[in-house]
Amino acid sequence: MAIHLRGHHLLCLLGYRGIGYSEQFARNMSSVHDRLLKDPETEVCIVQGPDDLCACFPDDQVYHCDDEHVGTRDQRILQRLGLEIGEELTWGEIQSRIARLVNPEEIAEWCFTCSWRSLGYCEEGVRRIRAGHGLVPLPARIHGVEVYGVQVDSQTRCGHYASDRDIIAIRFPCCDTYYPCYQCHQAVAGHPAATWSTEQFDRKAILCGACGTELTINQYLACDSVCPYCGSQLNPGCKNHYHLYFER
Ligand code: SF4
Ligand SMILES: [Zn+2]
Ligand SMILES: [Zn+2]
Ligand SMILES: [Zn+2]
Repeated sequence: MAIHLRGHHLLCLLGYRGIGYSEQFARNMSSVHDRLLKDPETEVCIVQGPDDLCACFPDDQVYHCDDEHVGTRDQRILQRLGLEIGEELTWGEIQSRIARLVNPEEIAEWCFTCSWRSLGYCEEGVRRIRAGHGLVPLPARIHGVEVYGVQVDSQTRCGHYASDRDIIAIRFPCCDTYYPCYQCHQAVAGHPAATWSTEQFDRKAILCGACGTELTINQYLACDSVCPYCGSQLNPGCKNHYHLYFER
């Protein structure tokens, strides 16, 4: 069955990072996001007014889904994308229209009343789509810390490095965001990775996936592949890739 979406939610989904108006709202939005991420051939039906995401708006908050200014935002975005109410098309086609027709800076004008806008995720989402990437995979929460990447497990292993000892994530200085590895950053971030300079080696930038402690780069480089806090064995092979993360 097609997913029913209103105009502005086509852009909200690009900026979605797993948080929403309530737990139930976020759970529902995560499942829609997950379907579109995994299968861009999913059919989407464009609707006017409240849609499949609005359906889980919490009862105890001020309902704004029928507000006129929200309807106006929908219209402006649909007009830009050349879409009509009732039209059905794939999510992949919607993404390619966004890539061709939307400038990230326009979100500030279209969505000036939105409380989520200041996070900057939606502009970043549009930039990713324009760069040929898809939706951002939702972050894993490891000991309360968000870690982005590809198939990230509960201890920071990923689709690229998944041995028993692959249990650290690295915060990248370009986006202040944790990823399990440089390939995860490449696949998800939508911008080139930067490395930490030697003057920044006192910054906490390594997350131990076993105990959740954030180590400074100096602590990590001196730890001889053993977490100084929980004693877990870390992968000594990571040394071969230090130049991708740290200036030496
Ligand atoms: S700024 Fe708000 S309304 Fe606009 S796309 Fe982002 S979340 Fe949606
Ligand atoms: Zn980055
Ligand atoms: Zn990875
Ligand atoms: Zn540890």
